[in-house]
Amino acid sequence: MHIAGNPNILTPQQRELIELAAMLGRDRFAPRAARHDRDASFPFDNYADLRAAGLLGICVPREYGGLGADFTTYVMVAAEIGRHCGATALSYNMHVSSTMWAGFIADALDMTTGQRADHERHRALHYRRIVDEGRVYSQPFSEGGAAAAGKAPFGTLARPVDGGYVVNGKKIFASLAGAADYYGVLCTLDRPGATQRDSLYLAVPADAPGVRVVGDWDPLGMRGTVSRTLLLEDVAVPHSARLMPEGLYFQAAARYPHMFATLSPTYMGIAQAVYDFTVAYLRAEVPGMPPVKRRMYPTKQIAVAEMRVRLEQTRSLFLQNARDAAVDPDKDTRMRLYAAHYTIMENANALAALAIRTCGGQSMLKSLPLERLYRDSRCGSLMLPWTAELCLDRLGRECLYEAGERDEAIE
Ligand SMILES: Cc1cc2nc3c(=O)[nH]c(=O)nc-3n(C[C@H](O)[C@H](O)[C@H](O)COP(=O)(O)OP(=O)(O)OC[C@H]3O[C@@H](n4cnc5c(N)ncnc54)[C@H](O)[C@@H]3O)c2cc1C
Repeated sequence: MHIAGNPNILTPQQRELIELAAMLGRDRFAPRAARHDRDASFPFDNYADLRAAGLLGICVPREYGGLGADFTTYVMVAAEIGRHCGATALSYNMHVSSTMWAGFIADALDMTTGQRADHERHRALHYRRIVDEGRVYSQPFSEGGAAAAGKAPFGTLARPVDGGYVVNGKKIFASLAGAADYYGVLCTLDRPGATQRDSLYLAVPADAPGVRVVGDWDPLGMRGTVSRTLLLEDVAVPHSARLMPEGLYFQAAARYPHMFATLSPTYMGIAQAVYDFTVAYLRAEVPGMPPVKRRMYPTKQIAVAEMRVRLEQTRSLFLQNARDAAVDPDKDTRMRLYAAHYTIMENANALAALAIRTCGGQSMLKSLPLERLYRDSRCGSLMLPWTAELCLDRLGRECLYEAGERDEAIE
């Protein structure tokens, strides 16, 4: 089954890149997934394949030597990767998002002429590193407080100094910790009265003095993301470290909300993988399992039908959402986006739970991928800024209130 539903409506580039991702996923990533999950090790081998295939530059504009993929193309490719190794797809998203935020998302936003010229120079440097040198970027913004949810300024501070900034702070759950060449750190300009508007997005070299990766990493799922804690102590970076001009992240978060929706394709891929596994299992086509078919039982057929319905519902929202991405979406588009994100994250886990119940005891043994898919799928709803709870929170409020509406104080 094609991840995008009907492949005939895809562009030639979409078809070609999804096929490439499917080939890499099937032949390389899937066979390695159990080992990286067991050892909680970073899939450097998968990244070598992504690099060799040119996929590190998937969203780098063509004029900078990249593949110039748009939002829709990227999320379909990411979902196909997630179908074979969720952890690889999730950390790949952190890398690709850095290029996308500095790329077509920044292009759609307001900047002064001077900012745009600076940005052009800076991103040329970052893109060159990725395309020519195969460097990997990550995107640590979580800090354990309200900042990642968008409710407070980042606690990581960048103090302006001659020639650049000095960065101090701590990032938790920094996927690719110890693996990325550059950490795309979200911070706040360290100046009196700074607010969320004073955001800054800096590429900090992993080997810069003052950068440390600390803590262990032994989580429930997504173990191959190696999302350890990052400490930044008096780390000096030049102005060219800027992945976006000062303040632009704040504008992007307000005006281009699809920028956060790139976390869900991984889980669309997991939902698909869960369904694929269940069908193969009930047809007795899973390698290494005895040839005992279970498809003839009506209860199994109903369960698989329910899974297919939920999968198609999820895919429809995923694809619609992918095609909706643009600057300044109207309120309904934004609400559809929250609904889609919530649905993908929650349905991936619901499908995995149903798959284990349907396939039965043998299917949850560690020798088969389903139990890993189940654990990985649980992580989707926890991803800030749009956890399942926060999607509901935003949706509920926006369903009932128009912009600026307030309630009278209740006596
Ligand atoms: C596998 C994995 C990889 C990750 N990779 C990255 C990464 O690369 N970069 C990165 O920056 N982060 C990453 N994260 C972190 C993730 O985005 C969250 O920041 C993290 O899971 C938050 O954990 P917490 O317990 O500190 O959440 P808390 O802030 O304690 O929140 C707990 C829950 O409370 C709710 N909540 C939080 N704030 C509010 C609020 N203001 N109002 C109402 N409800 C709220 C949310 O539903 C949230 O799930 C990763 C997480 C996982 C699981």
